Amino acid sequence: MSEDFLGADWPDSLDLGPATVLTGVDQGKYPHGNSLLVQGTHHNVLIDPSLTVAERGLSFAVDHVLLSHVHEDHLPGLSRLSDVPVHCHEADAIGLASLDGLMAMYGMPADADSEFRQEVLNDFYYAPRPDVSTFSDTTVFDLGGVEIEVVHTPGHTRGHCVFVIPQARTAYLGDIDLSGFGPYYFDEWSSLGEFERSIERCRSLDADHFVTFHHKWVISGRENFLAMLEDFADVIVRRELSMLDFLKQPRLVAECAAHRFVYRPHVEMKFVDHVELRSAQIHLGRMVEDGRVELMANGKFRSI
Ligand SMILES: [Zn+2]
Repeated sequence: MSEDFLGADWPDSLDLGPATVLTGVDQGKYPHGNSLLVQGTHHNVLIDPSLTVAERGLSFAVDHVLLSHVHEDHLPGLSRLSDVPVHCHEADAIGLASLDGLMAMYGMPADADSEFRQEVLNDFYYAPRPDVSTFSDTTVFDLGGVEIEVVHTPGHTRGHCVFVIPQARTAYLGDIDLSGFGPYYFDEWSSLGEFERSIERCRSLDADHFVTFHHKWVISGRENFLAMLEDFADVIVRRELSMLDFLKQPRLVAECAAHRFVYRPHVEMKFVDHVELRSAQIHLGRMVEDGRVELMANGKFRSI
């Protein structure tokens, strides 16, 4: 470990050559997350400054911040970096421009919206950054001997991106987080079809280390990564098979939502009902379209 290895004093940091994983509290379990520091000869870039970064601060200077996407848990550390230029994909910039913009990306019902707004401000230190710079699908950042390549992977949000650092043989996956929960595609700014295409795109990522923002932390070895990506994608397939089974008897959208195909029955979080309804609408919509389900005259859905 060289003396100029920034992040060496960070608890549980992982040295991947020019990239360093700044491991979050609980290995990045929400509301925390795992940030990535990338060090070139001219610039140091911090990707996704987490809540842990906000709470601990940094012992070194960074020149730029990149965001995999604009969500409350990926930007709290900006509160420590208010003078540092911040960059995100153009499709998510609305979320940094204003709190209203961020809330529009979630698209929550009114009561949940007002409660979550306060959380975003108080617990995640949100402050608008209307000076945000935007990048597009094929931008490459040159840090001096080290590059960060943008791979646009929409679905979780419209502007979600994976970052590939070839010199570290590392891909930063953001919220393609390989968790057992599976892909999260229930917001206004989300798309199930786009998420599936992005997973497909990730199958060809060329790296040896895959850094997730949340608790799966770092997956080393491409074969391990591909197996976990398969399981992650399978959550969607299994959800639709369960729904088709449930729809052997005709059901209303509300009955599908109440049955819960996303969260387990004991989970009591304030967004559960909203997410279950969104999920039911999204899946019923596409299964009607591709002929797996029919909408009956009485407003109920039935598998064919
Ligand atoms: Zn997210």
